[in-house]
Amino acid sequence: MSHVFVVDAKKRPLAPVHPGRARLLLKAGRAVVFKRFPFTLMLNRPGGQAVGEPLRLKIDPGSHTTGLALVGETGGEVVWAGELTHQGEAIVERLRARRAERRGRRQRHTRYRQARFANRRRPRGWLPPSQRSRVQNVVTWVQRLRRLCPIAALSLELVRFDMQAMQTPGIEGIQYQQGTLAGYEAKEYVLQKWGHTCAYCGATGVPLEIEHISPRSCGGSSRESNLTLSCVPCNKAKGTQDIRVFLAHDPERLAHILAQAKAPLRDAAVVNSTRWALYERLTALGLPVEVGSGGRTKYNRSKQDIPKTHWTDAACVGASTPEELRNWQRVRPLLITATGRQCRQMCNVDRRGFPRGKPKGPSRSQGFRTGDMVRAVVTKGRHMGTYIGRVAIKSDGYFKLTIRSGVVEGIHVRYCRALHRGDGYGYALGRLAALPPQI
Ligand SMILES: [Zn+2]
Repeated sequence: MSHVFVVDAKKRPLAPVHPGRARLLLKAGRAVVFKRFPFTLMLNRPGGQAVGEPLRLKIDPGSHTTGLALVGETGGEVVWAGELTHQGEAIVERLRARRAERRGRRQRHTRYRQARFANRRRPRGWLPPSQRSRVQNVVTWVQRLRRLCPIAALSLELVRFDMQAMQTPGIEGIQYQQGTLAGYEAKEYVLQKWGHTCAYCGATGVPLEIEHISPRSCGGSSRESNLTLSCVPCNKAKGTQDIRVFLAHDPERLAHILAQAKAPLRDAAVVNSTRWALYERLTALGLPVEVGSGGRTKYNRSKQDIPKTHWTDAACVGASTPEELRNWQRVRPLLITATGRQCRQMCNVDRRGFPRGKPKGPSRSQGFRTGDMVRAVVTKGRHMGTYIGRVAIKSDGYFKLTIRSGVVEGIHVRYCRALHRGDGYGYALGRLAALPPQI
């Protein structure tokens, strides 16, 4: 299990505690629940506990999901893990829909909103909204976790591979396929350069092997300019033939491969702009930020035989990863989904872009806000029962509740008690990375 965060009565972060100890603290009345997600206790007196060992927050940014892991700096224990799912695609889709509606209206001359063009300047470091939201989600969570536990340093996977680590003088022959750090970096480089595709048949999504364009037996080198990717059948078919013999029937593909092999990977492809922007935002927080490469992450993870998930990748980011990560088998990640807080649109529109329904009402009512997680104990009427879910408020006090099994309408505010205020994210508990061994 993940540890439980603890803050003192003045909201200062203390060392996270084992869930068993958290239970004792609650039972003895020494602490109360401060936050449900992530689960945090507040002690009823200031200070009290030692701050404990400093933690390192490790981040593996992804375009869809970002892995987060809190690891003890000295003991190497995984204390907490999370997987943050971004809104990315949804934002792109909403902007596209808005653009189409405006364009449609404009075409019909029904509403005056002149098209803008050539009048927009993008500020330096501008990112598209979908990418900016990813960066902001991660920064938000780094700041939130900093308020709940003593984080001393950050680790971030910045690049896919590290050229310097790749060009270790020791790399010889097929070492890169035998699990050295340089080998992992080289494989990531080749995967990136050749777009995760078999160079000979164009297959994707199959196991790919590193392949010598000019075979080793004919004196071909192991420099990255002589390496490409091949699926297993193609690799077998080629054997030790020279590429000019193997691809004699397909001169076009042959020319393409030879040209591509010579071209080095461009810098732009090495660090993508979102990761770079994230790195800059994180360094501005004032914590030391260690950067790692994807090759090293994979190397650290496979060396310890840890299965791949977003958060286990995060736990393996960077050179500071301990030789032995402890407790990872018992950690269940908190699945965090970015949902946004509310909609800025003031009026719903129909398929053709005309106003539909009433203008937007107030977003708060009687102390509740749309998106709050509530527990409703209804004692009479046709909705009798207990519900836990997200609330959508209505000004007459009869709320809509989204629970696991569907939607319940008309739950009166007097039955509702807030469990967790809407904070722009949805929560669930993930599964263990590996099932515990059978006894
Ligand atoms: Zn192939």
